[in-house]
Amino acid sequence: MSDFQPVSGFDLPRFAGIPTFMRLPHVPLDDPRLAQVQVGLIGAPWDGGTTNRPGPRHGPRQLRDASTMIRAQHGITGLRPFETVNCADLGDVGPNPADLQDTLARMTAFYARVRQAGVIPLTAGGDHLCTLPILRALARDRPLGMIHFDSHTDLFHSYFNGQMYTHGTPFRRAVEEGLLDPRRVCMIGIRGTAYDSEDRDFARSVGIRVIPIEEFHARGVTDVMTEARAIAGTGDTYVSYDIDFVDPAFAPGTGTPEVGGPTSWQALECARGLSGTRIVGADLVEVSPPFDPSGGTAFLGASLMFEMLCAIVTGMS
Ligand code: MN
Ligand code: MN
Repeated sequence: MSDFQPVSGFDLPRFAGIPTFMRLPHVPLDDPRLAQVQVGLIGAPWDGGTTNRPGPRHGPRQLRDASTMIRAQHGITGLRPFETVNCADLGDVGPNPADLQDTLARMTAFYARVRQAGVIPLTAGGDHLCTLPILRALARDRPLGMIHFDSHTDLFHSYFNGQMYTHGTPFRRAVEEGLLDPRRVCMIGIRGTAYDSEDRDFARSVGIRVIPIEEFHARGVTDVMTEARAIAGTGDTYVSYDIDFVDPAFAPGTGTPEVGGPTSWQALECARGLSGTRIVGADLVEVSPPFDPSGGTAFLGASLMFEMLCAIVTGMS
């Protein structure tokens, strides 16, 4: 068995020790062991793109703590991902909370190093603007497909009289910059009151498939995920999972909740339904600890990260 095994709760109780993601070894980018890592769990503690209620800058630390509850074996499939693929906690991207553009540049540089090392990044946000600099590093040489779970399209042009970089605009920028192939993008769970239809009109104009919540509930997870995998196709695909996809009854700890969403069970099923996709990176964003006093949102977030990790590993073996 590899050196990249999580600490077992049989050996050290899960409340003890320094809480890395899923109790994996901490391998910073300058550690020579990075060459052996295949999937890297990364914290992006930054919420400088937040337009309303802040807090996701505290997400990675709480997700690491909650992820000590994750055991080594999947409860349904029996997969033991850490025995198949070398996984490690690569630490946090250091943001500049006083400078949005500098933070974007720092994040892209960090993920460029991760990519150069051949590591698939699984990121804990941070707000949804964090996905843009990740895509700038991962899609530098060709556009990616994307499966995106969210209440919101995050496709708006700008906020506040021309601010182009917020957590409501990352995928508009990503399409404009050629980081995403819009015909290979599927957005699932979109709902709630709207400012207007500008984002949906843009999606339609470039060929992004939006599956709104009423269609999701009518069709069910299996059917929707079959379509999502077909849209992403066989090419390189990114997965972006906004925790506000889940109904706030199950995930209240987020800045922009929308009612009428999936249960925690459906949320996990969706992530499991990613298996078969060629995933080159994934994230779980918008967990906001100040709005999560029970810690339940973070625990669901950590559980979704484990499901996505299992989907990544399944695609690699
Ligand atoms: Mn979002
Ligand atoms: Mn959202």
